[in-house]
Amino acid sequence: TAATDFSVFQDLESEVRSYCRKFPIVFHRAKGAELHGEDGRVFIDFFCGAGTLNYGHNNDFIKRRLTEYLAADGIVHGLDMHTVAKREFLNTFAEVVLRPRDLDYKIQFCGPTGTDAVEAALKLARKATGRTGVVAFTGAYHGMSRGSLAVTGSRRARRAGGIGPSDVTFVPYEDSPQGTFDSVGYLERLLADPSSGFEIPAAVIVEPMQMEGGIYPASPDWLRSLRALTERHGILLIFDEIQAGCGRTGTFFCFEHAGVVPDMVTVSKSIGGYGLPLSLTLFRRDLDVWEPGEHTGTFRGNQLAFVAATAALDLWRQTKFHTDLAVASRRLDRFRTELLDPAIVTRGRGMALGIDLAGAGGPERADLVQRHAFEHGLIVELCGRHDEVIKVLPPLTIDIARLDRGLDVLRDALHSTRN
Ligand code: PMP
Repeated sequence: TAATDFSVFQDLESEVRSYCRKFPIVFHRAKGAELHGEDGRVFIDFFCGAGTLNYGHNNDFIKRRLTEYLAADGIVHGLDMHTVAKREFLNTFAEVVLRPRDLDYKIQFCGPTGTDAVEAALKLARKATGRTGVVAFTGAYHGMSRGSLAVTGSRRARRAGGIGPSDVTFVPYEDSPQGTFDSVGYLERLLADPSSGFEIPAAVIVEPMQMEGGIYPASPDWLRSLRALTERHGILLIFDEIQAGCGRTGTFFCFEHAGVVPDMVTVSKSIGGYGLPLSLTLFRRDLDVWEPGEHTGTFRGNQLAFVAATAALDLWRQTKFHTDLAVASRRLDRFRTELLDPAIVTRGRGMALGIDLAGAGGPERADLVQRHAFEHGLIVELCGRHDEVIKVLPPLTIDIARLDRGLDVLRDALHSTRN
């Protein structure tokens, strides 16, 4: 029947397609925290486009703004022109995000993806400092283009992309499957020692909480010491907030927990509010050394995404949004104490939870948990070096009853896969 027909995907779509292989279903509708299959099955979505749907699917508040805009023949493609939608987004972003945090950044609209924001940040950091080196961290995920892949810590993806030796130096993230490491102290040693051969890099790029790497939140102390080190040596500090940002950890930016201010920030995924493509690179005003036209792109600054993003920020400023979010976050946090298996390690912050099965069945069990969850109506993805960590990312707007139902399925899946 049409309801289970995958043949066209197998026939025509490249083998590179990824997540969809794990979910043998064709979806066609979604609302809030739920995805509907064309065969009538309904799933709770704890994947959320890897952090793209913080406001849930087809959020009514945002949808109303979009439909009004379309009904009034608002511009859909503006190719960098000054538009009303862009102006409203910039004004709202300044009012809701920048000013309350005393952030004096300029904003560059990048191509539609997070990768584009990372590319722009790396290019600008190199241009502004006149240096080429970049420091990145093991376990990092910053994108799949050659520039962003060069700072992504996956041997498999780098080999597939033909990335050879480059001007990127990898050092261990604060915490990793190998344990904790004083990488800031290590970098300090290298920089202070003229015999090291280690040149001062243009930038350090880091996720304040590694998401694809396995849900590793950096401690405030570590981020502060990284800030102090980069300041001492005139190295630009880039925070990649593409997946952990836009409220996922409770604050708008994940780095707010540490009380430090980076020189550049990359933002994408949920900034588009409705799953619409938008990506931004924010940087200190004095770093805006671009000449007009030095970094362009046809699909940067999608107008519908501006409308949705402005509406999403209007939601973000509502008190009720935050009281509901606090309740949901507490519920997710409590789930960690309910697992009752000391071999299972959990990490997370706000509405991001990683359930690490490295010492409790490993990737094989994580795969079984994911399958069991799918069969019982829950979509959940895996992350970590070997896909050994279950990544729980419900929409920030999920109601407690659905959150509970999803967590019940997850608990059962963990239970039934114990050996
Ligand atoms: N940085 C981080 C932290 C990400 O999680 C991702 C996407 N998973 C990217 C960059 C790349 O974003 P995109 O897939 O939109 O290119």
